[in-house]
Amino acid sequence: MATALDESLITRNPATGAEIGRVAATSPDAVAAVVERSTRAQASWAEAPWRERRALVDRWRRILSRDAREWAELIRDEIGKPAVEAMAGDVIPTLDALRWTVKNGGAALADERLGPSWQRFLLTPTGRLRWRPLGVVGMIGTWNYPLFLNAGPMAQALAAGCGVVWKPSELAIASAARLQASLLEAGTPEGLVGIVQGGGDVGRALLESPIAKMVFTGGVETGRRALETVAARGVSAVIELSGFDPAVVLPGADVESTARSLLWAAFVGCGQTCVAVKRILVVGDPAPLARALAEATGRLRVGDPARPGIDVGPMIHDQARSRLDRTIRATVEAGAEILAGGRPIEGPGCFYAPTLLMARSPEPERVLEGAFGPVLLIRGFADVDRAVEAANASRMALAASVWGADRKAARAVAERIVAGMVCVNEAVTPTASAAAPFGGFKASGFGRTHGLLGLREFVAPQVVFERRAGGFRPQLFPYKPSGVVDGYLEFYRRLFHPRA
Ligand code: NAD
Repeated sequence: MATALDESLITRNPATGAEIGRVAATSPDAVAAVVERSTRAQASWAEAPWRERRALVDRWRRILSRDAREWAELIRDEIGKPAVEAMAGDVIPTLDALRWTVKNGGAALADERLGPSWQRFLLTPTGRLRWRPLGVVGMIGTWNYPLFLNAGPMAQALAAGCGVVWKPSELAIASAARLQASLLEAGTPEGLVGIVQGGGDVGRALLESPIAKMVFTGGVETGRRALETVAARGVSAVIELSGFDPAVVLPGADVESTARSLLWAAFVGCGQTCVAVKRILVVGDPAPLARALAEATGRLRVGDPARPGIDVGPMIHDQARSRLDRTIRATVEAGAEILAGGRPIEGPGCFYAPTLLMARSPEPERVLEGAFGPVLLIRGFADVDRAVEAANASRMALAASVWGADRKAARAVAERIVAGMVCVNEAVTPTASAAAPFGGFKASGFGRTHGLLGLREFVAPQVVFERRAGGFRPQLFPYKPSGVVDGYLEFYRRLFHPRA
């Protein structure tokens, strides 16, 4: 669907360096035409009845489900995560997100009656709330969950009656091309979904085109630049940005099971997961948990995830690995102690040893903020209040978790943490919930994807009121010289404050 090709984009397996995908880049000058085609197609798609829109999403879901295994392998090879993670964390949640939309979209987008209630005495008529599609959505994607983060919102935009022009990450072009092919196979109307491949310049060109809404996933700084581009034109946005997720561990939490859970929650996707746990805030002595985690971190099997028995794959590319290494060095200079890992792994592939850092002051945590890779920091606190304060001290607020034997106490702590998702004795996995609206607070972004609130991001409420011709009689006009104001007030008080 992209046009005006002037250069190629290539992705390579970050574990082996083998070429995985090659596509022609879209020229930034060609992006506006793709948006225009989608706008034309969207004009009739907006009129399509729900059953037609539902049928498209359902056909697409079946195609993705048929190809689930190939998808998991492609994600493994292009992103570098074990196929089990790709299947459980990317492919199946995508299928379920689409299933949610197919099943619930009709009711969520149906007209609603707006009764006049007592205002019928003021002759206010019964109204109707309609959900109108916004138009063409400009989506800018990232690479770490190439299916789940893109197909879910795209399906919701289509279900809502919108068109989509998508700029996938330049680091996941093969996954994007496969998604494009699956949309064509599903019978998506010509031009309705446009895909433009390229880097930041193509993304910027998309945001400068006449889109009705932006859905952006990526880092905080890029997200803010993207927001500036659309805000000047009054275009609204969903922005899903980085996290720096805390896990507060309460006294009495079982060391072994907590360590096992947090190990996975920190290093899933090689720590390149927006909701991966990045800092463990232990109320009390952190040493026993730190010891258990250091041992388990050292035992993780790092390598090419195409080989059996690999727990942690490579980082996405060399620059990301060097950036992480620099951040870890700076965190150590700020006072952190390395308990495990802390260095790139020599040899082919972009591997970094899963790293556990111990901090004894706030400074290392501040330096580590925003790190995106296999790193986890642990720190002890004298009491719960200080741990909660540290959890909330970050400018990012995507997700958080609290761990403890007393579930009620843990819940009370969880509810004090400012984040889009808070979990008790659980982390990361609920992100896959098809019904739960996903998104952050503070610098982690705003707007939501998935579920009812995700779907409603693609529609605007319109209220419709109507009467039979000649039925509208403004009964008080022309106004009588006196008594009208008092009459109104008297009437209202009688209804609602009879004893006042
Ligand atoms: P990034 O911010 O570098 O890039 C994101 C996207 O923006 C890419 O497609 C890129 O080409 C595009 N882009 C770059 N400059 C642009 C510009 N000026 N205008 C428009 N688009 C532009 O991030 P990344 O490396 O792709 O992703 C990693 C980050 O994403 C991490 O910080 C991670 O925490 C975050 N992330 C957040 C979520 C979430 O749902 N909150 C999910 C996954 C990843």
